[in-house]
Amino acid sequence: MFLRFLYVEKREKERFNLESKKKIAIIGAGPGGLAAGMLLSQLGYQVNIYEKNDRIGGRTALHKMGKYSFDVGPSALTMTHILTSLFMDCNRNILDYVSLLPINPIHTLYFKDITFPLYSDHAETKAVIKTYFPGEEDGFERFMKENTKKMLYVSPLNQFNYSSLFDFFRPTTLRAIPSLTLGRSLMDDLARYFNSRNLRLAFSLQMRYLGMSPWDIPAAYSIIPFSEYYYGTFHPIGGQNKIVEAMQQVVTENKGKFFFNSEVTEFESDGKDITSAALANGKTIEADYYFTNLDFIYSLTNEQPSKLETKEYSSSAFIIYLGLKTILPFSHQSIIFPTNYREFANNTMHKKILSQDLSIHLTNPSATDNTMAPINHSSIRLMVPVPNNTSNIDWQKETPAFRKLILDTVKERLDVPDLEDYIEEEYIITPTDWEKKYHVKYGAIFGLQHLWRQHGFLHPSKKSPNFKNLFVIGAGAMSGSSLPFIIENAQIATQKFLQKEKKSE
Ligand SMILES: Cc1cc2nc3c(=O)[nH]c(=O)nc-3n(C[C@H](O)[C@H](O)[C@H](O)COP(=O)(O)OP(=O)(O)OC[C@H]3O[C@@H](n4cnc5c(N)ncnc54)[C@H](O)[C@@H]3O)c2cc1C
Repeated sequence: MFLRFLYVEKREKERFNLESKKKIAIIGAGPGGLAAGMLLSQLGYQVNIYEKNDRIGGRTALHKMGKYSFDVGPSALTMTHILTSLFMDCNRNILDYVSLLPINPIHTLYFKDITFPLYSDHAETKAVIKTYFPGEEDGFERFMKENTKKMLYVSPLNQFNYSSLFDFFRPTTLRAIPSLTLGRSLMDDLARYFNSRNLRLAFSLQMRYLGMSPWDIPAAYSIIPFSEYYYGTFHPIGGQNKIVEAMQQVVTENKGKFFFNSEVTEFESDGKDITSAALANGKTIEADYYFTNLDFIYSLTNEQPSKLETKEYSSSAFIIYLGLKTILPFSHQSIIFPTNYREFANNTMHKKILSQDLSIHLTNPSATDNTMAPINHSSIRLMVPVPNNTSNIDWQKETPAFRKLILDTVKERLDVPDLEDYIEEEYIITPTDWEKKYHVKYGAIFGLQHLWRQHGFLHPSKKSPNFKNLFVIGAGAMSGSSLPFIIENAQIATQKFLQKEKKSE
């Protein structure tokens, strides 16, 4: 749909020889900025991307330590058709840029009393459930069937910007309402399918990728675990960062330009339009349009900051990246569950304190891809959801003990030798780092909590100052912080931009 729209626009421009000489400044070279950069440069606009760091990618960047490669953020890509559509919009084939490998099993789950894998293949997952939880396999079938329908109604909602109340009264939205199972949390919803507490946790663990507790997030988000089983999960050879590298390549092929070490510190406006942007290096940039990929538009405009303080933010994460001179017998993704996950989630989200009994997400991409580390070595990542920076945790003080607790938990729960003995390279990111180095407000790496009261036109980005030539893209612009949603959001912003352009012609 979008593809057609884009090309009709482009053909019109070419027919009338109106290939645009207008300049577009994109602030931030994360996946959001890059996706918009691809589309806008494909349309023939002069695209300049300003990035504060010396490399692309933001939270989806590559982190290289010696001979080891790591993805800073994403560990799995799902709904690959959305990425494919972005490349098709730019008349490209994603497979010419990135080789995608299926992640299978999707993950292995370590509960205190039981360990089991779950696969993207339905029959295999059903067989696992039948073996470990006899009688529950029909619940899985029902979960998949009912969520297929839910997906059908709910996914078109992503096509709207929801910047006004009017969007809520569109026929598509009204039709989706019964599928949204309003008033119910994801955990309530899962109780309709599974009796086993472990299975409910297995089908809600994805909420950690949204920085939320499954007891808080609305039931509509069951489409996230569903997507993993329906569409499968993938790992690009070389890591998820290869996706942003491919995006950068398309922008460059389309003659878009990148300016690194170029932090934008302030926008100037005449009240209606942004007129220029100031860089930390003292330079000023001017463009016809500005697309901002930053965490929050307010960070640049200083508008209504107090309103942001009252919002509810996602969790943060404490991550240890380890280059090990050994290989580990783990699948691509393993999740260690504490005895009481609800208490862990409560500590993280509500009490804002650290737990002693941890839930750890261990990513071992070497299980799928032998380019991440040399032979007989591995690049692993240990990620623990922790409170965001609205807590009083002093990370400088807590880091050594928390690091030890994580390594001890892995040793005990996964029954492996002490990882300390194999470490060649190590890097840690704390919530303080997310805020200071990655400019993520409160270190809440998944943005605002995905709650109805912060959704759609109630999301602060929708209330950002209404400059006619400013567009907000990326995870800060919406609810839904994973790559597919970020790409869709860039497509929507580009559509909105084209509509404005058309009106002004
Ligand atoms: C630990 C972790 C795990 C994740 N796992 C997954 C996953 O498995 N699957 C998935 O789909 N998604 C996952 N995500 C989400 C995904 O990585 C992010 O949502 C995505 O990178 C956000 O893209 P973005 O472009 O909106 O922002 P960012 O990636 O944050 O990019 C913003 C860019 O703007 C730059 N910038 C900031 N301020 C300025 C300024 N003033 N001037 C110029 N440039 C500036 C930053 O340096 C950065 O490059 C994960 C994220 C994290 C952190």
